[in-house]
Amino acid sequence: MNSRIPQSVIFVSREDDPGVLGLAAGFLCADGGCGDCYDCRRARAGTHPDLKIISVPEGKAEIPVDSVREMIRDASEYPAVSRASVFLVKDADCLNPSAQNALLKIIEEPPEYCRFILQTESPGRLLPTVRSRCAMLRGNAADFAAKTAQPNEKLAESLAALCSGGKKADMLALSFEVEKLPRSELAAFIALVREKAAELLVRRVIKNADCSRLSALISSCGECEELLSGGAGTRHIAARLSVI
Ligand SMILES: [Zn+2]
Repeated sequence: MNSRIPQSVIFVSREDDPGVLGLAAGFLCADGGCGDCYDCRRARAGTHPDLKIISVPEGKAEIPVDSVREMIRDASEYPAVSRASVFLVKDADCLNPSAQNALLKIIEEPPEYCRFILQTESPGRLLPTVRSRCAMLRGNAADFAAKTAQPNEKLAESLAALCSGGKKADMLALSFEVEKLPRSELAAFIALVREKAAELLVRRVIKNADCSRLSALISSCGECEELLSGGAGTRHIAARLSVI
């Protein structure tokens, strides 16, 4: 599997958001989540043999490091019936620091058949080292506060969407929009582009679709950050983002 494609996803949602198990189904189903096959039905019911669910033990406030160690042992075994082994950590912000550090080891170099879903309402409570190794997806629950739009979000979304199947010519028009951004907002904008691109990337990965342009966009976000800290101007950054 391409090392740029995230195998670990932070799913920002409530614990009962059906999107969590929907994502697990997408990873397990050979068709990326058809909704109808054995993998999809069992995953959505939370009873798939290749789906391991880790949560806060009853009567406890934290997920102990032992739960993560057990997960690491399970991750060394091939999936029993489907194409992936999916590990879902519910309320992942309840992993205590040593559990998060143990988790870090497996998400740094996961076996290629493993997928990790960290569901949380508070991604800010996960260690930055954990966050940086995961793609971030947001659930669709209408009442979820994270849905409030951020400034420049639409533009970042459009840019990522174009790399997920749009025409290259349309990139130029977006590039002009990026050029109009104040330089002080560029760092946050680049981070937003990366987040949106990673979201789309995961959706395409589970559908086995081509991800090369999205991967390139994510790489160029890193280059843009370097350019920015080296003093590059807005036009330079806009041009770099639009040659994908
Ligand atoms: Zn299916």
